[in-house]
Amino acid sequence: MKITEIRVYQVDLPLKEGRYAWADGKFVEVFDSTVVAISTDEGITGYGEVCPLGPFYLPAYGPGARAGIGELAPHLFGEDPTAIARINAVMDRALLGHPYVKSPLDMACWDILGKVTKQSVAQLMGGRFGESVELYRAISQQPAAEMAKNVAGYREEGYRKFQLKVGGRVADDIERIRAVADRLGPGDILVADANTGWLAADALRVANAVENLDVFIEQPCVAYANCLAVREHISLPFILDENIDGVDTLLRAYADRAMDAVNIKISKVGGLSKARQIRDLCVTLGIPMTIEDSWGGDIITAAIAHLAHSTPERYRFSSTDFNSYVTVQIAEGAPQRIEGRMQASQEAGLGIEPITAALGEPVALYRA
Ligand code: MG
Repeated sequence: MKITEIRVYQVDLPLKEGRYAWADGKFVEVFDSTVVAISTDEGITGYGEVCPLGPFYLPAYGPGARAGIGELAPHLFGEDPTAIARINAVMDRALLGHPYVKSPLDMACWDILGKVTKQSVAQLMGGRFGESVELYRAISQQPAAEMAKNVAGYREEGYRKFQLKVGGRVADDIERIRAVADRLGPGDILVADANTGWLAADALRVANAVENLDVFIEQPCVAYANCLAVREHISLPFILDENIDGVDTLLRAYADRAMDAVNIKISKVGGLSKARQIRDLCVTLGIPMTIEDSWGGDIITAAIAHLAHSTPERYRFSSTDFNSYVTVQIAEGAPQRIEGRMQASQEAGLGIEPITAALGEPVALYRA
């Protein structure tokens, strides 16, 4: 089987809440998502998606994804999409870095491999553990009372895990964490995610002020060394996200005892193949994971579900159903949240079928 054509679509994904805001005054109102369709000489097509969290969260942005796919496409023609390690080697040789560009292409190859073998991606990645995957809800940064109200509302919808967007002024963040903690029930999980927005001293002041609460602190500072310094001085459980972008950073952080859990974002690490490698390593090392992506629509949500559902439950800290945050549906068959949980499809591949009208015309088409 050979890759013969790659089509690229651009889709705007507006937010139901209108705006998603996090540290340092950053926000997004309409997400710029990119969908790829890889076609083969045997008539099978696979789909992938990449959706950066705006242009200023990770070194990734929508037009960059599309330019990078154009760079990679000529290298992929004639390659067998089911030989996924080889596909990744070809991409890594042709374009240094730019993991998020490679993510939708790798994802589409997994979709093809599943369709060819008539197995779901979750099955190909090890088989499903448990009936469903527990989800967290990200709570956009707002005044404390608004965030507490939103948590109460999402709790009504069945969520039991909440990730507060903090990383603002110390006094405000302390108030946010306290206000939300007040609305939680026994067993609920609360994470205060600063998204690199604090200086080390800010992080210490917030953590000291809420140390009597059951809350995780996530990615306080930009630099890994500063996160480690904070980690070494506080008693609260600690999560790393932005600093963990591959096996080398994971192993360094593990050796430094720098975290209690990590966030694996599919596009941050370069696709499902590399995310699976890190996932398997975390299982072996005993590190719980949030398995997710930077953002996305139905196709990314499906990919998250397959990777998460094929992860032993003990190591699943949480996952995200991004398709429930946005107003546009781009595929049929994607996971739908029920009581704060979702399931990976048992259909072949990712188990999704794009909605042609939602994708529109391709913005780029590459042919062998
Ligand atoms: Mg995070």
